[in-house]
Amino acid sequence: MIVKPRIRGFICTTAHPVGCAAHVQEQIDYVAAQAADTQTGFKNVLVLGCSGGYGLASRIVAGFGFGANTLGISFEKAPAENKTGSAGWYNNLAFERAAKQRGVYARTLDGDAFSDAMREQAAEIIRQDMGQIDLVVYSLASPVRQHPRSGVLHRSSIKPLGEVLDIKTVHVEKGEVSEVSLEPATQEESENTVAVMGGEDWEFWMQMLQQQGLLAAGAQTVAYTYIGSELTWPIYWEGTLGLAKADLDRASRAITERLKGTGGSARVAVLKAIVSQASAAIPVVPLYVALLFKVMKEHGIHEDCISHIYRLFSTQLAPAAQQRLDEQGRIRVDDQELSAPIQQAVRERWPMVATDNLEQLGDLAGFREDFLRIFGFGIAGVDYAAEVNPLGID
Ligand code: NAD
Repeated sequence: MIVKPRIRGFICTTAHPVGCAAHVQEQIDYVAAQAADTQTGFKNVLVLGCSGGYGLASRIVAGFGFGANTLGISFEKAPAENKTGSAGWYNNLAFERAAKQRGVYARTLDGDAFSDAMREQAAEIIRQDMGQIDLVVYSLASPVRQHPRSGVLHRSSIKPLGEVLDIKTVHVEKGEVSEVSLEPATQEESENTVAVMGGEDWEFWMQMLQQQGLLAAGAQTVAYTYIGSELTWPIYWEGTLGLAKADLDRASRAITERLKGTGGSARVAVLKAIVSQASAAIPVVPLYVALLFKVMKEHGIHEDCISHIYRLFSTQLAPAAQQRLDEQGRIRVDDQELSAPIQQAVRERWPMVATDNLEQLGDLAGFREDFLRIFGFGIAGVDYAAEVNPLGID
């Protein structure tokens, strides 16, 4: 079949098998070019949320920058004869194939990482194939979580807290800037968002690994968060998602406490804004990202997903790294996004930006390009007019 992007709101319901594979390869090539000599420090890495965005980038840096064996877990859609699978499905295939060629172990489990059954399956594989894990990356982004103990299905809400928020946003497809009114979350919606995107499940994973003796001495774990600029605080950091991310901070302290005797530690890493399936769904964020990208590109300090994660691993997670921690003990690699000249320029543009000047003030084209690339479209060297097998390129 010939696969074209089919965009519905903030998702694309098709993915290009060859394009996704080429996108993974581009990221592998980037890492290979940075780390001419593979770094050491991680032997066995578990990546929760390994199929896209920051989790995939982490797996690529672990596997190809550090030569680590990786077990990845994600929740993706398999293809059928006449229907493409999700991008992450193809990304996982491409990663595994490349890892095999590179001679590093890679295994992927597809299913619900929030379930105890998945934890047990992962434990079994680690025991049999890997021994002990020395880095756990927690990079899940999901709108729902079925609680593994109570069975309750929690749904997250991306909402402000307290009062109605009137704020600018952009319709990414139409390129229209408008003002939206966002209703505040109820108490129940806030609690549900914390249940989905907070730290409880990270704790469950770490408890299981520790109890079953599957963590190496000094094992590290890192979970990803976003704080961002005051422009997005009302919808992110000061909204329901911020509550969930505060719970991640709580969990990092609790896990570190439990790991004390082993010399291990848990850290939250604050990352920059990028275009991912998860971030495209957050109101206001695409407009902020469009302005941010334009300004960061003008300053020559734009980082994409893979370059950002490479910097995280090589300067903050690698052994003997001088970590840049904030007062909460979080690793900060959002320093460039939040630097004064960048934020000042974005802040100046924010009140001025409108539909007719978005192209000059912002980089909506760059946002759209990155969005399509997530689904394997717009990747250099891929023949999009050619027939492809949706079942994969093997
Ligand atoms: P993403 O949508 O690209 O990836 C999410 C991953 O989670 C995918 O691999 C998906 O398969 C997996 N997943 C979702 N539900 C699952 C389930 N039930 N079981 C197993 N796997 C499941 O997301 P992303 O933007 O890379 O976000 C990852 C983390 O990084 C999040 O914590 C997010 O808050 C954080 N972060 C993102 C940004 C950004 O701008 N995108 C910035 C800073 C921090």
